[in-house]
Amino acid sequence: MKRKIGLLGGTFDPVHFGHLRSAVEVREQLQLDELRLIPNARPPHREVPGANADQRLAMVQLAVGESSGLRVDDCELRRTKPSYTVDTLEKLRAELGSEVVLFMVLGWDAFCGLPSWHRWEELLSLAHIVVLQRPDYDLDVPEVLKDLLAARSVDNPERLAQASCGYIICLSQTPLAISATHIRGLVGSGASPRFLLPDAVLDYIETEGLYRP
Ligand code: ATP
Repeated sequence: MKRKIGLLGGTFDPVHFGHLRSAVEVREQLQLDELRLIPNARPPHREVPGANADQRLAMVQLAVGESSGLRVDDCELRRTKPSYTVDTLEKLRAELGSEVVLFMVLGWDAFCGLPSWHRWEELLSLAHIVVLQRPDYDLDVPEVLKDLLAARSVDNPERLAQASCGYIICLSQTPLAISATHIRGLVGSGASPRFLLPDAVLDYIETEGLYRP
């Protein structure tokens, strides 16, 4: 059996149950050996008033804890300059080899923005793409992605396991209309985001005084 690894990149500012529940369900539906949450580096000018890279990483680590099959990968934060997803996938391919089946997991909003990503047309030569529904976003898919979906999407997860990259699958998971933007807004206005994210992450936000006006 080929090893199967899922990759969920994000700003995670902060990580919340929309990310975590999706991670668990994708791992189960696609029978992944592991799913890695990869906090993205972000240009310094966007770090205020959100959390900095160390804080975002700490929150993801607190959230994942000992969850079986979920892992935190800080590879993008360890680099000296912000890196593109295609660079991360190339690095992982070089480390893991061509046999491993890689799945790049994206919410619907991120998928619709794909044509603006650096060297986006090469992503499918490095990984499969898993698209998650996002009930809080009502976006139309760009024409170029309609063509790509027509050419590359499959319904059966078993088809994806036969190739190490190249296909797109849209999964339905428990729809959770939770966003980091909403959580930051709640904290900023003095309201509680409890039960939208793990208690350990909320305690960290309070201790560090994050997202306050
Ligand atoms: P922000 O509101 O700050 O833009 P976010 O909540 O969208 O943040 P990100 O860290 O940007 O969180 O998301 C990382 C990935 O997880 C993206 O691919 C995004 O589409 C996906 N994602 C985020 N929230 C959800 C959710 N509730 N359901 C499904 N996918 C999600």
